[in-house]
Amino acid sequence: MKSNDKIYVAGHRGLVGAAICRRLEQDGYTNILTSTHAELDLCSQAEVQAFFQKSRPDYVFLAAARVGGIHANNTFPADFIRDNLLIQTNIIDAAYQEGVQKLLFLGSSCIYPKLCPQPMKEEYLLTGPLETTNEWYAIAKIAGIKMCQAYHRQYGFSAISLMPTNLYGPGDNFDLKKSHVLPALIRKFHEAKESGQVEVEVWGTGSPQREFLHVDDLAAASLFLMETYSEPEIVNVGSGQEVTIGELAKLAAEVVGFQGTVRFNPEMPDGTPRKLLDVSFLTRLGWQAEIPLKEGMESTYRWFIDNITDIRQ
Ligand code: GDP
Repeated sequence: MKSNDKIYVAGHRGLVGAAICRRLEQDGYTNILTSTHAELDLCSQAEVQAFFQKSRPDYVFLAAARVGGIHANNTFPADFIRDNLLIQTNIIDAAYQEGVQKLLFLGSSCIYPKLCPQPMKEEYLLTGPLETTNEWYAIAKIAGIKMCQAYHRQYGFSAISLMPTNLYGPGDNFDLKKSHVLPALIRKFHEAKESGQVEVEVWGTGSPQREFLHVDDLAAASLFLMETYSEPEIVNVGSGQEVTIGELAKLAAEVVGFQGTVRFNPEMPDGTPRKLLDVSFLTRLGWQAEIPLKEGMESTYRWFIDNITDIRQ
């Protein structure tokens, strides 16, 4: 990518898209194209086609998606499968039609089977049944991967796919009904500390294991792969380190300064027991995560404090 190439970041207001924009600016890219939801409905094929015909970007980061935690995925399966299929199909096809040089598609680690051997290698895709709480989202993401691979094979379109692990960072969703576990715990502990509450509820048994990656690390990996990688095979992007939800709760309480106790609620779903990506392919390609979990959680907590008024509205 040259510094004045036109680079479209779809989903620039989301956790991932915003981090990619920050990184592009930091690295001196000057021609970054974005569109708000009011300007462009990514679920509308006609609007997306018209947008690409008019703006003709050179590169596309496809970071737009309907995302959410275990509860949101479980409650709104139709919204998750429909919106993700529409957004990615519209953008990938329009990018190919309008001569985009390369597109980067962001999948998710939930594309792998529920009881996948750990750590999960790229080749385990489609080797077993999916976790049921988020299979709608996962099926859409798998369709996106296959679409990139099919366009690669049939049209020679350079579309690459990254599979990030659980992400967190500034700009995360702190709405307790929709968020992922890490921002949810930061908020719950913060509010308990503020109100003098002595006990906080954490969903599930606390035993599931999850890997977390700071979104600034994902943005760095995305730019690295956009520059250096052009193959249809998917690439896992993770930190390679996992913690139990119980350990994460302990760390979150420490970061926030909450001194009360945690009560696990096994009535709420645990989801998949373990979700650790094998990142040896990415390591061989020459990239590794840099931001340690505690440090990343501290800066995320600072961002939460700075934006708490907006978050509560
Ligand atoms: P997942 O990785 O797709 O399962 O999504 P989440 O990040 O939403 O959940 C990860 C794990 O954290 C699950 O076992 C949840 O039950 C557990 N968890 C514990 N407390 C919470 C909470 O307050 N919110 C969310 N979203 N998950 C929680």
